Amino acid sequence: MLVVGAGPAGLAAAKAARERGASVTLLDAVDATGGQYWRHLPASRPSANERALHHGWSTYTALHEELDRDPGCEIVLGAQVWAIEQADAAGEAAPVAVHVLVGPPDGTARRGRTFRPDALVLATGAHDRTLPFPGWDLPGVFTAGAAQAFAKGERVALGERVVIAGAGPFLLPVAASVAATGAKVLGVYEASRVSALVKGWLPKPWQLVGAAKKGGELAGYVGTHLRHRIPYVTGRAVVAAHGTDRVEAVTVAEVDADWSPIAGTERRIEVDAVCVSHGFTPRLELPIAAGCDLTPERFVRVDESQATSVPGVYAAGEITGIGGVDAALAEGEIAGHVAAGGSPRDADLAAAVGARRTFTGFAARIEAAHGIRSGWTTWLEDDTVVCRCEEVPYGRLRETREATCASGLRSMKLTTRAGLGICQGRICGRTVEEIVGSPAASVTTDRRPIASPLRLGELAGRDPNTITHRPSEKGHP
Ligand SMILES: Cc1cc2nc3c(=O)[nH]c(=O)nc-3n(C[C@H](O)[C@H](O)[C@H](O)COP(=O)(O)OP(=O)(O)OC[C@H]3O[C@@H](n4cnc5c(N)ncnc54)[C@H](O)[C@@H]3O)c2cc1C
Repeated sequence: MLVVGAGPAGLAAAKAARERGASVTLLDAVDATGGQYWRHLPASRPSANERALHHGWSTYTALHEELDRDPGCEIVLGAQVWAIEQADAAGEAAPVAVHVLVGPPDGTARRGRTFRPDALVLATGAHDRTLPFPGWDLPGVFTAGAAQAFAKGERVALGERVVIAGAGPFLLPVAASVAATGAKVLGVYEASRVSALVKGWLPKPWQLVGAAKKGGELAGYVGTHLRHRIPYVTGRAVVAAHGTDRVEAVTVAEVDADWSPIAGTERRIEVDAVCVSHGFTPRLELPIAAGCDLTPERFVRVDESQATSVPGVYAAGEITGIGGVDAALAEGEIAGHVAAGGSPRDADLAAAVGARRTFTGFAARIEAAHGIRSGWTTWLEDDTVVCRCEEVPYGRLRETREATCASGLRSMKLTTRAGLGICQGRICGRTVEEIVGSPAASVTTDRRPIASPLRLGELAGRDPNTITHRPSEKGHP
């Protein structure tokens, strides 16, 4: 069995599959397991402090250590899956062929491997989503995910005076991590108003009972906020950043329920760094390449077994819905167990099935409480850069849309080049879709047949070695 992604979902899937005797290869593009949630210092620079900086650290170390010493599980790090071919194209009985490059992405010696697994678990997580605003391309403006990577993976302070803004519960751990690096966090500005938070979080409170440990996590963040005197303000957004060579100040404004700024409420705050996050976008390129169906909300459609619409392909974690680490762990366990021949109704999965029920409910609450509202486009000026790779400003997108009456994403992309740069629309794709109007279901910015940049030499000299996992192999049921 092949598992792509060694975050919470992928680790849990690999462990559950090993418990059923399947031989497992676990791949991740980065050089450590743990994914986004358990991002930590590299093994060459260990810290005794990791436990204090991560919720559930012992869960991570138990998963990692068990898999690491298990001869039936091969963990391959620095392993970038760059393409998936569907069965027909691959001409094989296996559901898909998975093409991987292993080695440092900035080196020239990456080694190609191709897997034709009898079962594939996709657990590729999400990107953080940041809405543009005037000045968001200034140095010193970070995505909150990048801020987390600096704080948790490098212990680097982004600045001395930092503002955190956007929407969603993710702002809380980001503020805690940034404060832990010694930076002064001047405030956390949540765009959703109290009424939206109440609508998302208060209904059917009994459904939250099973998630009591989230309460503990929340209490930890509240404690950090109180200790560092970090104000948490709702119904406010950073609507502009100012500076010459780097950010020097931001404008924070009160926003209405639709996130449109309320005139006269603007306030300028001197800062040297800003961290912004407006939620997450699932990393869908591999499931789309594998032929998996998506839901109308654009997550991978799975059934109670975490099986996708493609036989032999399973999905778990943030690619099926933004439910947080506990949902990812539960889904991963179910996916690995079933992919290795088990049933979702097996008694030993009961706890995971219960946890999935509890924590996937979080996804709907997060969307209701913190989901992006359409008024954000009123923050934009004509010269606000939307596609940073190709430097396409909002005005050009708007004019092109009006001049051509085209709501076609593809023609917009070819006319303006928005989304054609190095990130291939990962940062601006959904933003451009919203500016252009609803995309046709089949034409979205999530489709990237080549999932990551690769050198032509790597393509031309591709090692045809094929590692095939078959049910008859070691230990597989
Ligand atoms: C930038 C960022 C930071 C976050 N930080 C926090 C936090 O501090 N606290 C919190 O509560 N939640 C955080 N989250 C939310 C968090 O991602 C989830 O709760 C949890 O980590 C989801 O687990 P997962 O296994 O689904 O995905 P992830 O943890 O994202 O793991 C997915 C893994 O798949 C790998 N991968 C993806 N594509 C490929 C490919 N093509 N080839 C090979 N490997 C691939 C990635 O490298 C990654 O390690 C963060 C999310 C993001 C996007």
